[in-house]
Amino acid sequence: MQKIIVAGGGHGGIAAASLLAKRGYDVTVYERHARDNMGYDWTDIFAPGALAAAELPMPPADKYEYKENMTFYGPGMHTALRQDIPQDKLEIKMERRDIYAHLIACAEENGAKFVFDCEVLGPVTLGNRVVGIRTAAGDVYGDLIIDACGIDSPVKNGLPAVCGVNAAVGKNNQFYVYRAFYDRASADEVADKYKVYMFSEGKLGIGWVATEEAHADLLIGRFEPFDQAEADRTADYYRQLNPVLGRELKRGGQFVKIPVRQPLSKMVCDGYAAIGDAAYMTVPIIGSGIANSLKAAKILCETVVKDAAGAFSADTLWDYQVRYYKALGAGFAVLACVKEALTVFTPAELDYLFDNGVLTAKDMSIDADTTDLTKIFSGSDLNDIKTKLSGVVKDRVLLKKMLSVGKKIAAVASVTAAMPKRYSKAAVDRWVASYEKTIGLPL
Ligand SMILES: Cc1cc2nc3c(=O)[nH]c(=O)nc-3n(C[C@H](O)[C@H](O)[C@H](O)COP(=O)(O)OP(=O)(O)OC[C@H]3O[C@@H](n4cnc5c(N)ncnc54)[C@H](O)[C@@H]3O)c2cc1C
Repeated sequence: MQKIIVAGGGHGGIAAASLLAKRGYDVTVYERHARDNMGYDWTDIFAPGALAAAELPMPPADKYEYKENMTFYGPGMHTALRQDIPQDKLEIKMERRDIYAHLIACAEENGAKFVFDCEVLGPVTLGNRVVGIRTAAGDVYGDLIIDACGIDSPVKNGLPAVCGVNAAVGKNNQFYVYRAFYDRASADEVADKYKVYMFSEGKLGIGWVATEEAHADLLIGRFEPFDQAEADRTADYYRQLNPVLGRELKRGGQFVKIPVRQPLSKMVCDGYAAIGDAAYMTVPIIGSGIANSLKAAKILCETVVKDAAGAFSADTLWDYQVRYYKALGAGFAVLACVKEALTVFTPAELDYLFDNGVLTAKDMSIDADTTDLTKIFSGSDLNDIKTKLSGVVKDRVLLKKMLSVGKKIAAVASVTAAMPKRYSKAAVDRWVASYEKTIGLPL
């Protein structure tokens, strides 16, 4: 029986373990945390359809609720854009620990094994093949290593150059986040329960204050690291805008990172496949990655099963990358350009977009199921978007910036479309170089 190792208990890794164990593979997940201490002490939002995509049942109904619509504010806070997501598209909100408990229980039921409290230190390689992982408890060997260790995966970071997996995250490609649940300082009804502030105080990043029954949920996200003093100062700023946000820390209060970039240029090599945050599978402008990782798990499982001889080489695993990009990744590479645009717009320019109808409430109906730009812009195609921009944006400097973003989007869309469908080292190396060069084009 072929032996598959999942390094790290990321969502996609556990879903892949579940699917592969169900098909008879010998799968073991190595996770650094204890079973009952996985994830974070807060809630997550994701599209529940992704569970079915990974052959997972819905969790018990008392474990989730439907998410509130968000209200977005530009830096000047002159205009509020409120989402209006149709009922059948609503995402669910669940405690992260409950999501993990659900995924682990399903995977175990399908025969996957778990080793908790086990730090993964890096890959074990033989030439250009990954043959195992180094752990604090010793080396373990497998026919395939699935890397679900998250953004800073020591497996990905430890791969030799010959594997061709570029592990560098890159500037402005990760969000530094502080998230905490505080007490509710007032019991008054709040009209807009989920407020999202873009570039508030002119700082590059976002913040949100979500009013829940039992607490007020604060998130501060920036492209640069920041410390507790800055988090406290920013929380005070949000308290002025949201009297509901109390001072007593109830839960969370941690600093974490989320990748917000195009997917990894090469997700596979001999004996290795990356999934989840290790492969940068989040929606680049909002950082949601759970649903995408679950969907990727299904694609990876089908790719593995197709390789009946169990070679698990870059050649046989390449189809996983091709299919992931086709389903989701190509759209995310384009969205990464939109995220990059946010880093070159000034707060005043962003306000212009909010205040002059360039961005509308419908456009902000982005959710974790948003896979490409046209879905954000209300079903318009790329030409409609260009027309919309040139019709509305009278500010010439801003228009120039936006047209340059449009040019880059077109280039990125065209390079992702040119990804080789079949693996050959030379063709893939060429494509990776051209993808990374295009993504790196200045705006
Ligand atoms: C504050 C915050 C809020 C978020 N909100 C949402 C949301 O609402 N909806 C959504 O879809 N996504 C959200 N995300 C993103 C989401 O968490 C990830 O995209 C998703 O979990 C996929 O990442 P992952 O599971 O692969 O990686 P991770 O979540 O990083 O999981 C990696 C796993 O590997 C383990 N691990 C790491 N290193 C080692 C090691 N050396 N040895 C052993 N084990 C190791 C970790 O303990 C962890 O269990 C949020 C992220 C953050 C930080």
